[in-house]
Amino acid sequence: MTTAPVPSPRPSTVTGLICRECGSTYPKAPIHVCEMCFGPLEIAYDYAAIGKVLTRALIESRPYNMWRYAELLPLDGPPVVGTQTGMTPLVKADRLAKRLGVREVWIKNDSVSHPTLSFKDRVVSVAVSKAIEFGIGTVACASTGNLANATAAQAAAAGLPAVILIPFDLEPAKVLATSVYGARVVGVKGTYDDVNRLCSEIAGKYGWGFVNVNLRPFYAEGSKSFGYEIAEQLGWRTPANIVVPMAGGSLVTKIGKAFGELEKLGLLAAGGNRKTKIHGAQAAGCSPIVDMVLENRDQVKPVKTPTSIAKSLAIGNPADGFYARSTITGSGGHAGKPNDDEIVAAMRLLAETEGIFTETAGGVTLGATIKLIQEGRIGKDEGPLVVCITGNGMKTQDPLVGKLPAPELIGPSLADFDRLQTSVQ
Ligand SMILES: *Cc1c(COP(=O)(O)O)cnc(C)c1O
Ligand SMILES: [Zn+2]
Repeated sequence: MTTAPVPSPRPSTVTGLICRECGSTYPKAPIHVCEMCFGPLEIAYDYAAIGKVLTRALIESRPYNMWRYAELLPLDGPPVVGTQTGMTPLVKADRLAKRLGVREVWIKNDSVSHPTLSFKDRVVSVAVSKAIEFGIGTVACASTGNLANATAAQAAAAGLPAVILIPFDLEPAKVLATSVYGARVVGVKGTYDDVNRLCSEIAGKYGWGFVNVNLRPFYAEGSKSFGYEIAEQLGWRTPANIVVPMAGGSLVTKIGKAFGELEKLGLLAAGGNRKTKIHGAQAAGCSPIVDMVLENRDQVKPVKTPTSIAKSLAIGNPADGFYARSTITGSGGHAGKPNDDEIVAAMRLLAETEGIFTETAGGVTLGATIKLIQEGRIGKDEGPLVVCITGNGMKTQDPLVGKLPAPELIGPSLADFDRLQTSVQ
């Protein structure tokens, strides 16, 4: 592996912002809503210019992190934070495959993401670097937990103050792993959707850079790197099936976009476009996007009170629900919603077969995968199946407490140990 740096300064590949609904265009700015139709804004790229410079060989010559795809990410200069984020392992999961009865299974493992052990490091690397390009002095976010960790860490690394708003009843480990970075943490007595609404008002009034509110068009593009990496790690081929956890529905949408861009730019190997079926996963206790797929609806029916142990996915009114559902159904994919027992069982199955300890969100993804296989939505011989593992189990230990065997207790003597061995034989 060589390490040719990303050329810098390089001409920006971003032409501005464009409304996903009406196509109105805007100059680059920390804005996220169209003034004409209130549709969400998205980054507009000069794909013709990108196509002239970006090749598989050039990408492969660069350092092993998400910035090897810099031309497809919305910064005008080199990143300031998160320079080592991305290129997490794609693990061939043969023991898990055998248990699932599927020939070829891969785990994309963002539970070991740098620096805060979830895929949110990718989106925050982009958003905080962009906030600095915009000259914004304070960064902030509304979070279900992992985004809080990532924003607080990267703000600290950039030397910027951070204000983090979370639902008051988040897992203690996720609160602690936010406060430790010196961020101001505000617990809001309400659901994530209440927090999010409040953040829109604060963003308008205080001029802060909310990574997932006014910086959202830039932030969301960071998720594409998850998709690019999977294709590159499979030898510049997209998988036959991919199962993606959904909260606001951004990651699943951007994986679809990433595969489409690689195809459009001619970056896939010959025959490398497998027309991936993209499947979505949510917990049964909060499944607004999965229900849109199952009930064949294109309107979100918000969930008022999420009840699942998978708090990082517990967004009752998902901002990208419409686009997530159309990404899934347009690809020929489907959706699944395991209950809390199935989530815990899947967390244990992944740990016991592959040695990967994921948070509850990972249990949701694998639990949904199991259902989709049982229902015949994912065939046993269709080609590579990628299961997206997006967060680390050390952050959500509570659901496992009391469910695993306690350590066997002995005195510090060989006789005691021998007695144990005799009793298990
Ligand atoms: C935020 C999050 C997701 C998905 O987020 P989207 O809002 O759908 O992009 C998936 N897994 C984990 C662990 C997360 O924290
Ligand atoms: Zn518009």
